[in-house]
Amino acid sequence: MLSVKITNALCNLQCAYCYEHVYRERANHRPLDLEAVLTQIEREQTAPYLHGGEALLAPLDVVEAILATSFEKIGHSSIQTNATLINEKHIELFKLYKTQVGVSFDGPGEMSRYRIPVDSKDKHVADLIWENIKWLRREGIQVGIICVLTKANGLPGQREAFKQWILELKELGITGRMNPAEIDYPSIQKIALTPEELDDFYRDMTRFILTEVGGDWLPYRDIVDSLLGLNQGTCSFAPCDYYNAGAERVILSDGSTASCMKTSKTGHIYPRFQNAGDRGFGLIRYEILPKIGQELGGCKDCKYWRNCTGGCPAEGIDGDWRNRSRYCLGLRGLFEETSRLLKMMLPNIELTTDRESEAFSDPNSVKGMNPDAFCFMSTLSNPRASSWRQDARVNLSHCRQTTQPLPSQSPSEDDCGHGDRQHGDRAHGDHGDHGDSWKV
Ligand code: SF4
Ligand code: SF4
Repeated sequence: MLSVKITNALCNLQCAYCYEHVYRERANHRPLDLEAVLTQIEREQTAPYLHGGEALLAPLDVVEAILATSFEKIGHSSIQTNATLINEKHIELFKLYKTQVGVSFDGPGEMSRYRIPVDSKDKHVADLIWENIKWLRREGIQVGIICVLTKANGLPGQREAFKQWILELKELGITGRMNPAEIDYPSIQKIALTPEELDDFYRDMTRFILTEVGGDWLPYRDIVDSLLGLNQGTCSFAPCDYYNAGAERVILSDGSTASCMKTSKTGHIYPRFQNAGDRGFGLIRYEILPKIGQELGGCKDCKYWRNCTGGCPAEGIDGDWRNRSRYCLGLRGLFEETSRLLKMMLPNIELTTDRESEAFSDPNSVKGMNPDAFCFMSTLSNPRASSWRQDARVNLSHCRQTTQPLPSQSPSEDDCGHGDRQHGDRAHGDHGDHGDSWKV
């Protein structure tokens, strides 16, 4: 994904947990040089999506220039916004350039308590965002949600209201992504879910989304695909070079380039460190994590290693990108609960965790698993195919011979960034994606 931060970190809301606080001061002095931005987009030969800060703080003609550039390249465009500033002119542009609008929103009312500034007295911001989401849909514009999980919307006491909101989004034809808040400053750490709270949330939502909602809510659909060996999923479930994150290439307002801004947790905006060979500067994480014991911050002997690869490096324990994700417990909950549901429905399914390493061509990927997950359920490779009967479990080597991965299933094919491995943003879906998941 090519993220054009046309307003850098400038934002009218500045949510309590925003990861951009640390570099906001350093980024916002940069001038706007639209010519330089457009030149850099051409250099990168990728469709841009508009991101911020709050992208709609930019002048209308600047917004239009970026949307039009994307539309010319791929026939649609995308933007991530807090949706508070949308006006009729924006709506016209979104229709003209077939814009997929990713809205950052944590739910109606009090569930969005931390989306607005901590000391804000304006209680209407969440209502305004919710109304604008409905307005966008009435106008036929595609919308995806990035919902950040905190103690305002992720605790058991809020669960029924949260689920009701998800069902209302379903009625509107909207899905999205649920991300735990990534907070690195101690003063506000108390609003983040604990690992145990996130584990409880993810397990409950896995059951809810997969059995009552459907659609392509992330990370739940990512986990299904991953366990079936179909797809690695969004960027946090695959190796990411911290200093040159291919899944989130950034262009700032002056045309300069940066790595994923989630790596700027010390306030320093890294350029994209290239020419570091195949290993990059950050890919050593994926060599060392599987060798280090879990009690020491590693992932040794974790059965989900090739599905998870330690999670997003920007979420590393103690803010250290080399460690595994601080959300390990929640990630494990996602994989465990999804495995349980899949096995209950289809006992003869073969998940990635059922297979030895020789079924994969890459130690850090599930893709190209051979034989595939359905080998005992396919009449093409199995004369006694069944979703549950024990006698369907014929010799695995027979399946291996007859189930060859298609060329497009090569592990390397979509593992470059957003060209791309999906970053998971919904229209950045944040760390989302711009692909088929936009269908509403
Ligand atoms: S959010 Fe994605 S691109 Fe950014 S550091 Fe994490 S894994 Fe890498
Ligand atoms: S679930 Fe935890 S231990 Fe396993 S790979 Fe992911 S971060 Fe590492």
